[in-house]
Amino acid sequence: MSSETRRVLGLETEYGLHHWNPEGRPLPAEEVARYLFRSIVEWGRSSNVFMPNAARLYLDVGSHPEYATAECSSLTELIAQDAAGDAMFRELAAQAEDAMSRDGIGGSVHLYRNNVDSAGNSYGSHENYLLRRGTEYRRLAESLVPFLVTRQLLVGAGRVVPGTHPSDAESSTGRAAHFAFSQRADFMEEGVSSATTRARPIINTRDEPHADPSKYRRLHVIVGDSNLAEPTHLLRFGATDLLLRMLEAGRGPRETELRHPRQAIRQISRDLTGRTAIELRSSAVTTALDLQRRYLEHAQRFVDAEGAHHDAVPRVLDLWSRTLQAVDSGDFTGIDREIDWAIKHRVLEGYRRRHGLDWDAPRLAQMDLAFHDITRGRGLFSMLRQAGQVERVVTDAQIEHAVAHAPSTTRAAVRAAFIARARERGLPYTVDWTHLKLEEHPRHALSLKDPFDTDQTCLDWLFDLIDAPVSGRS
Ligand code: ATP
Ligand code: MG
Ligand code: MG
Repeated sequence: MSSETRRVLGLETEYGLHHWNPEGRPLPAEEVARYLFRSIVEWGRSSNVFMPNAARLYLDVGSHPEYATAECSSLTELIAQDAAGDAMFRELAAQAEDAMSRDGIGGSVHLYRNNVDSAGNSYGSHENYLLRRGTEYRRLAESLVPFLVTRQLLVGAGRVVPGTHPSDAESSTGRAAHFAFSQRADFMEEGVSSATTRARPIINTRDEPHADPSKYRRLHVIVGDSNLAEPTHLLRFGATDLLLRMLEAGRGPRETELRHPRQAIRQISRDLTGRTAIELRSSAVTTALDLQRRYLEHAQRFVDAEGAHHDAVPRVLDLWSRTLQAVDSGDFTGIDREIDWAIKHRVLEGYRRRHGLDWDAPRLAQMDLAFHDITRGRGLFSMLRQAGQVERVVTDAQIEHAVAHAPSTTRAAVRAAFIARARERGLPYTVDWTHLKLEEHPRHALSLKDPFDTDQTCLDWLFDLIDAPVSGRS
């Protein structure tokens, strides 16, 4: 595939961090975070580092550790690189727990790959897609909003939503506890905006391409839930990439703009039938299921006409179609080994029925949280996966490889090689997505403006230069 048809993909995951202490008070999150990042700080002199696999690992405000994958150019690479982040944090959490226990602090350290904590704070899972500067960005972003608002039918993580106070649970503003498609839906505030945290837009338009700004843009999608199952990741990135291709080619479905995206995303999330009426800007009324069917039909026709641009396209289309069928029929058994919300629904609904519980039972909220725990094989999802009850896209060996190796098809490979060489030589350095710098040679910083450029001769040049006798330097 040429760099004209390839797309750089990246995924940022923020984790919830908790210390459970049966014998006393839990440690505040900032202190647990300090334990969690101890070996990282020793290794990289900072709690904001680029790892040997060229990913970024850091502690943002609010003590939500984050892992941002290096730039990937295929879905399987992205899935493996993202899972490598879980593996790294799993190891760090185990080390933190051991260090705390040596300091006389009991209990356990947990990391949750989810989007909402018990205090009602939400944190994100950001998708990044490289776009060519030529496309009309604002228009493209706006056409994408109805797709993203309804995409939760496919790739929501599932959530037990607590009810409001019983006295007003059935009033127009209150509601009963229920199982919803999405974790993030109730927290999104706007369609398209340049803020990420305060206004919580679906798409963030801050123009920060991490690449040559005259050629590229980076589409920054804020609305997604953190996914667990690999096939759900495949569908999330695969379907969104297909839609972007259609929009770039001017071939997306028309007249899909929603009148009230903020309201629609909430209503769609809580209706597992996919049939809640939503109003379009044209005043026509439709449903999430119908809109998604239109997107899928367009995608199928687009692929028939243009051909599949990567090997996983048939699997993406098949899973997309089966998921919509499952929502339509109310029979989720065809997707409950592949799609996050359906996997969670199978487990929680089964438990709920066996024990005659309502959705507001505290045990179900606990199970919802435990589903997302990635530490030491404790999480419910991890257990299902271990037991072979969840479909896979990549192998454990591919994930293990991704912990230590950058994607080989993007500039991430150059970043990783730079980090390895600088560390081997004990040379202090700084790195970001587009720059590599040896601190003692600031004038010779390298700039990696093309995300597809994997040429490492610039590194030979740099390291030869610093090895050259002083008189030979220019
Ligand atoms: P914030 O954390 O505030 O959202 P950010 O989006 O700039 O800021 P990072 O956490 O540094 O944050 O993550 C950037 C993500 O974008 C990474 O996953 C990276 O692989 C990806 N990325 C880098 N360059 C590009 C690019 N040119 N196009 C698409 N994705 C890119
Ligand atoms: Mg980030
Ligand atoms: Mg981001």
